[in-house]
This record gives sequence, C-alpha cells and structure tokens, in this order.
Amino acid sequence: MHRQLLFSIILSAILSLFIFPYISLKIVDPIIYIADFLGDLFIGALKMMIVPLIISSLVSGLLKFSKEEKIAPLAIKTILYYLLTGLIAVIIGLVCVNLIKPGKIDSESAQSLLGQAQINSENFKLFEKIEDDYSATLLSVVKKMFPHNIFSAATDNGQLLGIITFSIIFGLVAGKLPNRMRTHQNNFWESFHLTIQKITEYIISYSPIGVFGLTLPIFFSTGIESLQTLSVFFFTVLLALFIHLFLALLLILKVCGNVNPLKHLKEMTPVLVTAFSTASSSGTLPTTIDIVQKRANVSKKTAALTLPLGATINMDGTALYECVVVIFISQLYASITGMDLTLANQLVVVFLSLTTSIGVAGIPSASIVAIAIILPAVGLPVEAIGIIWSVDRLLDMCRTSVNVFSDTIAAVVISKSQGEEPYSKKSSII
Ligand code: ASP
Repeated sequence: MHRQLLFSIILSAILSLFIFPYISLKIVDPIIYIADFLGDLFIGALKMMIVPLIISSLVSGLLKFSKEEKIAPLAIKTILYYLLTGLIAVIIGLVCVNLIKPGKIDSESAQSLLGQAQINSENFKLFEKIEDDYSATLLSVVKKMFPHNIFSAATDNGQLLGIITFSIIFGLVAGKLPNRMRTHQNNFWESFHLTIQKITEYIISYSPIGVFGLTLPIFFSTGIESLQTLSVFFFTVLLALFIHLFLALLLILKVCGNVNPLKHLKEMTPVLVTAFSTASSSGTLPTTIDIVQKRANVSKKTAALTLPLGATINMDGTALYECVVVIFISQLYASITGMDLTLANQLVVVFLSLTTSIGVAGIPSASIVAIAIILPAVGLPVEAIGIIWSVDRLLDMCRTSVNVFSDTIAAVVISKSQGEEPYSKKSSII
C-alpha cells in the first residue's frame, strides 16, 4: 500500500506537470474527467463513513471505560496537548516568515501582486460559500458543540463537533447503566462499529486509485507557472511545515511516546497520502482511525477520543499557515508603505491563528475564512487573500497532511501516557 500510494502521487505529478502540457487537450480532457470522477467517488465514499464511524467508535470506545475510570483527565490532557502543538506550529511559522521575509520585495512588484488580488476577488464567491457554512470564531466553536437537532447535525459533515459531544455524553451515560443493559449496549455498538470498520477498510483498499484521481486534476490545473510568482512564499510555508513535522512533532513522539519516528512515519504513509490528496482532515478521519488502531496498536478508546477531536480542533498546519499568510501580506504592504506590523500586532496574529485554527472545519480551503477574520484585526484588507488563491490548494494539501499527522502523534503520545503500549503487539486494538 505504501508503495502504491507514493506511486500514484508521483505518476499523477509527472503526467500533469511534464506530459499533459505537451499533448492535445482532446486526449487530456477525457483523462482528467475520468480521474476527477474516480477521485469524487473515493472522497464521497470516505465522507459517507465519517458520521457513523465517529458515533460508533466513540460510543463503543467509551463503553470500554470501567465504571470507576474517569474520562475528564484524558479529555483535558488531549485538549492541552493539541493547544501546545498548535502554539509550537504558529511560533515556527512566525519565525520562518520573519527570517525569510517572502513579502519584502520591491514596491512595484508588491503593488502589482496586490493589484492582481483585487482582480482575483472573483474567487470570493467560493469564500462566501465557505464562510456561510463554517464560521471560525471561538464562540461559534462552543456553540457547535451543542447542535439544536442531533439528527440534522448527523447529516452534516460540518457539524462534527456536535456529533462528538453527543457521542461522548451518550457513551458515558450508557457506560453507567446496570450491567445487563450495559452488556446489550456494548454488544450492539461493538458489532455496529466492526461493520463500519470493515466497510472503511474496503474503501481504503482503493486509496491508490482514489489518490490518483484526486491529485491528477489538481496538479494539472495548478501548473508550475503559479508557483513561480509566489515561490518564496510557497517555500516559506513548506519549510515551516517541514520543520514542524520533522523536528517538533517527531521529537515529541520520540521523547513523550518513546516510538521510533521513522517507523511511525512509514506506518502512517496511508494517512499522510490520503490527507494530502483530499486536503480534508475530516475526509481522512476514517483512514486515520483505521491505521492508527491497526498499525500503531493504539487502543480503541484512546483512538476514539483523540482522533475525531483532533480532526476537528487540532490543526497545526492550518494555524501555522494562517500566521505565515497574514505576516506575508503585511510584509507586501510594508514593501509599499514602509510600515511593518508592530510586535503587539504580530502577537495578535499568533493568538488569532491559534484560536481560529481550532474553529475551522476539516475541509479544503477552510483556512481562508480564518485568514479573513485575522487580516482586518491587524488593519489589513480582506481582499488581499486573493494573492494566495493560485497556490492555496497545493499548500492546503501539505498543511492538511501536517494537521492529520499531528493527530496520529497525539494518539500515540496520549496512549503511552495512559499506560498503553503503542506499537507493541501486546497492546489490544479492541
Ligand atoms: N484543509 C484543512 C483541513 O482539512 C483546513 C485548512 O487549513 O483549510 O485540515
């Protein structure tokens, strides 16, 4: 599977960047059309599993807690861990963008880039659509924990926080029932979850085709030219993501989880590749839960609590990206006006990047909403987001991989702190 997935991505990159531009569109168009269709089927199938998987894994996982065991310490530990890694990510982004200064260019080039942003405001139709569906403020996050109608929330992948809260409450209360009823509940949810897991495994077995179908049209429509104008910005984001993933996260894994980082990287390849190709933490969740339980031997109850929560609130890559984009845009304006963001404003950016990243949904381009909240807060015009549209999707694929990878590390580290033995055959995956 590892090799097939990497092969899929490399093949789609070679075809779309180096071969398709030189052959007739009459041949290329149908291929892209079919790939797009297959990619849609794959992501649709994954999304279909999200809600049943969250409910069944959380309820059956929580039923595994003994009546005396407390879930609050685990939940608090998980949330604190997520906040900490998010903060580390934003600081890495802040340092990289301040050192590399991708927006410090000559004033004419800055003016022309910002000018193009106004023209690109066509794209704001998409932005408005996302904003309607997903508001990223902290208060709205708390509100989303208690949806007015659990059945309508269960029909909307944007309401996962509500589903998580309800499932946790349900699992906790069901776990306190008298033994006879608890056993019934346990049997039902266990078999329900196993069924959902089997279907998920079946869908995941088609990942190489799905990944190819998802990445081919994206690579083809992005092209190399769009990367050239924003190459330094692009490189800054990639470098910061790279440092966070390979230095910060893997170090945390080694020190706190006592796990070989290379082994974890290798085992999590399907998760990374799925996150990369779908650009959606939520869409990747079925794969994440399956692989973390099976390959890293994290117990079902720990995986059930850390991973769905992680897919909705733990967005290290997103927080880092928001910070880099806002400072980059401020540097472009400073190239024209000579006025840099003050230290206080940079701290506002750090704070807002961290808090809004908790609120954004695990879907493609969701960061855009958060960036639109941060820009005016530090006196910058919202329209300037238009500058990054052309490269946003590619960077989205990269930051989503970091978002999801961070969830897998949290699952392993928290599992270790609970006295489990991740990556050990002895550890139970049930
Ligand atoms: N696409 C990201 C995710 O699903 C969110 C974002 O940064 O836009 O994790």
